[in-house]
Amino acid sequence: MNNALETGKKVLRILNENGHLAYFVGGFVRDFLLGTTSSDIDITSSATPDEVTRIFPGTKATGVKYGTVTVFLDHHSFEVTTFRTDGDSQDARHPDEVGFTRTLSIDLERRDFTVNALAMDAAGDIIDLYGGRADLEAKILRAIGDPARRFREDALRILRAFRFVARLDFTIEPKTFEGIRANRALLDNVSGERVLTELKYIVRSPYAVKAYAAMAASGVLDRLEPIAAGVRFLAVHDPVKLSFEEFAALCFFLGDHAIPASWRLSNRERQSIQKILNLVEVTEADAFDILIVYVNGLDGCLAANAVNRTIDPARNQEDAIRAMDAALPIHKTCELAFKGDDILASTPLTDARTIGGIIDDLIYQVITGRVPNDYTQLREHALSLIRRMGERHDG
Ligand code: ATP
Ligand code: MG
Repeated sequence: MNNALETGKKVLRILNENGHLAYFVGGFVRDFLLGTTSSDIDITSSATPDEVTRIFPGTKATGVKYGTVTVFLDHHSFEVTTFRTDGDSQDARHPDEVGFTRTLSIDLERRDFTVNALAMDAAGDIIDLYGGRADLEAKILRAIGDPARRFREDALRILRAFRFVARLDFTIEPKTFEGIRANRALLDNVSGERVLTELKYIVRSPYAVKAYAAMAASGVLDRLEPIAAGVRFLAVHDPVKLSFEEFAALCFFLGDHAIPASWRLSNRERQSIQKILNLVEVTEADAFDILIVYVNGLDGCLAANAVNRTIDPARNQEDAIRAMDAALPIHKTCELAFKGDDILASTPLTDARTIGGIIDDLIYQVITGRVPNDYTQLREHALSLIRRMGERHDG
């Protein structure tokens, strides 16, 4: 028994008993028919947010403007949205107004693709007004209604189409594809943030390469300049599975060599992408060596190597990188047998920069195998270094 599903059916039945229509809808039904039961369950209902809130105590107003509230029951949560009709859109992104309706068919009509417009009732019966089931079986992604109009209403649907190709191995139906092609300029109306979100979905999905090929063929890359060269490359080279950060570094390496300012990345993502990009640039001419492996760590090096081997399989250095990492006598400064505190204790030095320079040298000596990671030998090396520094200063 699937608890989320059974609890969801309970929510539907409770709504029904209170005189409302209620169905599972969208991605949950699509994925359920494809054989995966997600716990991310959307419910569509004739009940208004107020009515839902009265029936389920503790309901949270998560998107009341769009008719959505979150219902909690038996440790599960459900997004319940009132049957909606979306008005016209001036900005190709947001409807000017949303209206609420008491009819399921009107709610399904506003949805993007036939496979996302399937509904399921409490008894498990499927409501299929747009041939979504047949499209699901044939793995076809088809816009509901006139595709060009649908993409003009909301250009985000263009990226959602590629998301479903990448996730589900679907093929975009020709008229829908033409609608994307014709309206690709409207992608300029989609915020950088949403573009990034959809892009991450695509890159992390199992059939990402299929989506890259569809993106390249549809012309949308004209509007996605920072990733254009990278996606075109990936569309025709069968790559190793790349993380989003590796994907981004590859795109920037083949493109502008810089992370676009419009990308709202977390600091962690930005640093990680920048580090991979730098390493890819450094290792373009020189192979990975033990210093690079020490400074960047195994994961950073493997990430850059994933980009390198995607660009040219002959440059795969994974085994060498792993061997170098395994052979490193130390992985962190604190693993030095003679370190900062010891320098302070056994020399008259106090200047942090000078001490830092000595530590860098000790690390270099240890990881290149010139001096073993041994207290006495490192101390001797440090003292002789300090003596030579003193002589240089005196002379
Ligand atoms: P996922 O499995 O990635 O969550 P999903 O289809 O459930 O995919 P959601 O963004 O969760 O996608 O949206 C839920 C449903 O709402 C969709 O299945 C679709 O019916 C509808 N929907 C979402 N975004 C749009 C949109 N931009 N235009 C039209 N319908 C949309
Ligand atoms: Mg969903």
